[in-house]
Amino acid sequence: MKRTLFTIFVMVLSLSYSETADGSTFQGIRYWSSERYTRVVIDVDNPVDFTKNHLSNPERLYFDLKNCILPKEITTSIPIGNNILKGARAAQFNNDTVRVVLDLENFESFNVFTLHEPYRIVIDVYGREKPAPPSYQEEKKLSGIKRVVIDPGHGGKDTGAIGPKGLYEKDVVLHVAKALGEMLRERHEIEVILTRDKDIFIPLEERTAIANSKKADLFISIHANASPRGDARGIETYFMNWTNDEEAMRVAARENSISLKKMQKMQSDLQTILQDLARKNKNEESMKLASNIQNSMVSTLKQNYSKIDDLGVKYALFYVLIGAEMPSILAEISFISNPEEEGRLTDENYRIKIAEAIAKGVEGYIVPSRVVKKDNDKI
Ligand SMILES: [Zn+2]
Repeated sequence: MKRTLFTIFVMVLSLSYSETADGSTFQGIRYWSSERYTRVVIDVDNPVDFTKNHLSNPERLYFDLKNCILPKEITTSIPIGNNILKGARAAQFNNDTVRVVLDLENFESFNVFTLHEPYRIVIDVYGREKPAPPSYQEEKKLSGIKRVVIDPGHGGKDTGAIGPKGLYEKDVVLHVAKALGEMLRERHEIEVILTRDKDIFIPLEERTAIANSKKADLFISIHANASPRGDARGIETYFMNWTNDEEAMRVAARENSISLKKMQKMQSDLQTILQDLARKNKNEESMKLASNIQNSMVSTLKQNYSKIDDLGVKYALFYVLIGAEMPSILAEISFISNPEEEGRLTDENYRIKIAEAIAKGVEGYIVPSRVVKKDNDKI
């Protein structure tokens, strides 16, 4: 995958700075961009209180990070120069405040939220949409889904869950994602982009940024489940929403690499922008996609395997889905922590069956008349 073509990745790091006991140190700014969307991430070594502000003449957003220090050797001005942002800069505003300014060009709206471990502030900036030429709109309406981003969970230093016999989630999901990608490309002539096609680490916020910058029509994140209960088994598919279901929250906390407590705090922090996020990621459509994929996985696997438990369609706040601007889901394809399901996940045939089932689910979503039926649906 030629990520460099679309993904501009800037990382400024200061590893030599020891953090102050009661404050934070600014670590750098990263961004990914396309013509009408830019995700900017501010890395700070500890959680900070910050304010957000929007000013005109010239139009800019600024964020004041309280009790925060900007190390001298960090580059503080980053030219972006796309349609939305001229650039990003940071400065020590006063003794204990770092001010980050985004200089705007063709701005419409923005969302800001924080992710934890490591702590980072994510700012999604949306530009004004230029009306698409009529031919493009027409083409889009007729053919529906043209581009799908598939996201194999974890990778590199992040192994994901590990099975009792030592199987890595990151390896299983990469295999399934690649097989699914091939199927969608060949059978459905859909353009497929994988967030990773090898064993490398990619931060969760970058995966969403890839889907948004590439203007994907669908985003599918693939994972294997894990539970301290060794006998937990089955298949479930998620879309993004606030939840008070503790099990769903636990799954999201694990996939977000944060504690359940942080998960609860994050839910309350996100409350104010959740409606906007849900609208942007087309929640209704995400739910439909999730249910097509879930039903297809369950019915396909039941034809070949016993004891396939349908845990259903659920929702929770997964970092990787937050800010996604298209129908987006996260599939937990089986429990790697369950010895029998780990055995199945080790088997190539099982992985291919899952990929086929997800492909069928996507097809069912695109062509509603061919919606995959649950095997208990009587015709
Ligand atoms: Zn996972």
